[in-house]
Amino acid sequence: MLFPPLTRPRGPLRTLLTRLHPYRIPLTLLLLALLTEVYLHNSYYTIHHPARDLDVPFYTSCQEPDLSPSAPREAAAIVMLARNHEVEKALRTVISIEKHFNRWFHYPIVFLNDEDWDPEFVSTMNETVSGGAKFEVIPKEEWGFPANINQDRAREAINRQGQQGVLYGGLESYHHMCRFYSGKFYTLKALREYKWYWRIEPDVEFYCALTYDPFVEMAKHEKVYGFTVALPKEPATCPGLFRAVADWKEEQDYRTTELWKAMVSPSWLPWPIRKMMSGLGHRDGRGDGWNLCHYWSNFEIASLDFFRSNAYQDLFERLDERGGFYEERVSTLTPFFRLGKNLMLIMRKQWGDAPVHSLALAMLLDSHKVHHFEDIGYRHDWYFQCPANAPGGQLPQSEVLGGPAFEVREEREDGIGCRCECDGSRTRNHASYCLNRLTQPNKSRRLGTLGWVRSWWA
Ligand code: GDP
Ligand code: MN
Repeated sequence: MLFPPLTRPRGPLRTLLTRLHPYRIPLTLLLLALLTEVYLHNSYYTIHHPARDLDVPFYTSCQEPDLSPSAPREAAAIVMLARNHEVEKALRTVISIEKHFNRWFHYPIVFLNDEDWDPEFVSTMNETVSGGAKFEVIPKEEWGFPANINQDRAREAINRQGQQGVLYGGLESYHHMCRFYSGKFYTLKALREYKWYWRIEPDVEFYCALTYDPFVEMAKHEKVYGFTVALPKEPATCPGLFRAVADWKEEQDYRTTELWKAMVSPSWLPWPIRKMMSGLGHRDGRGDGWNLCHYWSNFEIASLDFFRSNAYQDLFERLDERGGFYEERVSTLTPFFRLGKNLMLIMRKQWGDAPVHSLALAMLLDSHKVHHFEDIGYRHDWYFQCPANAPGGQLPQSEVLGGPAFEVREEREDGIGCRCECDGSRTRNHASYCLNRLTQPNKSRRLGTLGWVRSWWA
């Protein structure tokens, strides 16, 4: 019984319980109603698991690449935005992608810059690429403040972010870059002839051979977006973004996809209180939160057409009008995260293109349209994914893959990698909580509690 006869409690508690005693039945009913409401609200966000896995690796061992001129190819390009002074790091990336993939497939590499290219950068790359290189300068209209923004105010906001210690927040060019990659990139004239892009950045390393054509496979399996690493966003950085996207979703009356559910951490507070929380950072208009998970966008193999569609570009226009690429308020929690910054080294920026892409995909796509390239070994900054090698799947005799000099490295029972160069102990996928969370809608088996606990420590 919720309000038992009063024997023990003394003092103010006793007085309160005595006063409430006559209302015990309606109060109990109210409590039950609140609990039911919270339960139903949370059940709405339970991810539905399909009968079979909806996203599996395209191949789970080395393939003999088809080098014939009639081999199927897609209208695709590898794309790198870079600055002239990044030539060395950019070169390392290009050498790595050529060695592990492009020496068999010869896709063109398009280099983009907001400034004129140094002849040194151009000649270095021309000597290295196997499928031709293009050096494009982004037109001024595509790189800079949007027309409707008050530039003085935006510059002030940028300075403020710099003073508050938001990494890169004080750099005007960084904001232009985020805005560019969030929207203008896709409608560039220089990319008009392509349907697919593979985004790379300076300071990237590939660890495994990719012996099939990912663009062809993406098209064949009707995928839209491919990623390697999924991470949580640093909470101090884009508190208003989720609200802006969620409001747009409501206005457009988009249905809630399973992928959107995977992005949401539903609130455990009952309705009116929950709603009152909607003003806090990373919450939608109903008070539910975003778990900050997103695909790390420095690696992307994706459809240009999806990002050129009205559905995506309209969302981008809305976000751009809001000015959040420049003027996002820094969350009140910032001082706390600044303290942790030196320890965690993960404190970053405002509305970045990674969360914009990820939330848009979650809003607009069924989860099986997103592909996890778990067979690609990849590193950028300090995050990496490196699969174990597939047992018996390394094609040691293959001439095309490099001749008989190849030494088979350690293979593992559950490995899916092709000639991966990471050592076994470093085989891992970062960071497993978000990776698990975002791939749940494609998995037939629910991850048990133990699995979730493990994924926090992976
Ligand atoms: P992070 O990955 O968010 O830490 O940002 P990065 O500094 O790696 O920048 C992302 C990409 O944009 C990289 O390919 C950079 O080379 C490129 N980039 C960033 N700022 C500029 C810029 O001002 N001009 C040009 N041309 N490229 C930039
Ligand atoms: Mn980067």
